[in-house]
Amino acid sequence: MSFSWTCAATDGAARAGALSTAHGEVETPVFMPVGTAGTVKAMTADAVRSTGARLILGNTYHLMLRPGADRVFALGGLHRMMDWPGPILTDSGGYQVMSLAGLRRLDADGVTFRSHVDGSSHRLTPESSIGIQEKLDATISMALDECTAFPATEAQASDSMALSMRWAARSRAAFSARPGYGVFGIVQGGVFPALRLESAAALTAIGFHGYAVGGLAVGEGQEAMFGVLDITVPALPADKPRYLMGVGTPDDLLGAVGRGIDMFDCVIPTRAGRTARAYTTRGVFNLRNARFADDARPLDATCACPLCTRHTRAYLHHLFRCEEMLGPMLLTWHNVQYYQDFMRDIRAAIRQGRLAAHAAAVRARWAEGDDPS
Ligand SMILES: [Zn+2]
Repeated sequence: MSFSWTCAATDGAARAGALSTAHGEVETPVFMPVGTAGTVKAMTADAVRSTGARLILGNTYHLMLRPGADRVFALGGLHRMMDWPGPILTDSGGYQVMSLAGLRRLDADGVTFRSHVDGSSHRLTPESSIGIQEKLDATISMALDECTAFPATEAQASDSMALSMRWAARSRAAFSARPGYGVFGIVQGGVFPALRLESAAALTAIGFHGYAVGGLAVGEGQEAMFGVLDITVPALPADKPRYLMGVGTPDDLLGAVGRGIDMFDCVIPTRAGRTARAYTTRGVFNLRNARFADDARPLDATCACPLCTRHTRAYLHHLFRCEEMLGPMLLTWHNVQYYQDFMRDIRAAIRQGRLAAHAAAVRARWAEGDDPS
């Protein structure tokens, strides 16, 4: 079977469809929980699956350092190692080299860096990044790119984008074709429309299984991010999936789906789950707040996760106050469930041609805030 995306319905620029992969089908638009180092933090693979998640993300940078790509390969690949038989997308490692690694040196061929774990020296090139992702058994591999710094001048963004396009061609050439596996290119170009269009054209000419928009959610703000999508998305092939990397809040997702994005990943639901921040149909709550100490209601009455069906807000507040492990575990589960329910409802709304009305209703409930009773 070949890696493909089929469109089932459109509503304005929004699309509902399905990815067909070697590891199963995935309905889009889809949100990928982030499984940084071979685990979605604080959750078992079964728990992640129970939320409806079908596609998760793994981080090449973390996995190449620990336990190492050869070790993951010897253990049967990432799917087998972490008991996730479904599809997995891995990033190229480039973003984390830039944001986490110590002492790094970028040259035309690749990047040399020191591990943030033990200071050991490593090198990533387009070819080695794709090779590592193949050893991890990634269903979807990402081309190595340079995530352009923000802010950047147009000249800096242009040079950076041009480098990423040369690396994109090398990444594509290094990818070995396997049935049901794919490789995505990444549009760069900062906030400059002409550079984004040039990048989209360069990637389309190379030809990928899907196209990501990178270099956003790095401090430019939502309005500028949506502006880049308005320019970039129409320039991408209509019959391939489009992935907005590292985004975002539920409101970001609504806006980006409405602009034609099909795939997302972000650490927000899992990271927030560890810091007592709850995403709900009534907006975002901080469960450390004293107002929850005697609140015997479920966190979100509309949610079917174990936290919302079996525990009170007061119990969750207590767990975080005492720094009990179960607090982050339960709230991560809830937040991942919230994001999956949120995307399921968006997919249904697109199929029924009522995305705009759905988005307005969702935003109105957030604005109302918590039920005062
Ligand atoms: Zn819940």
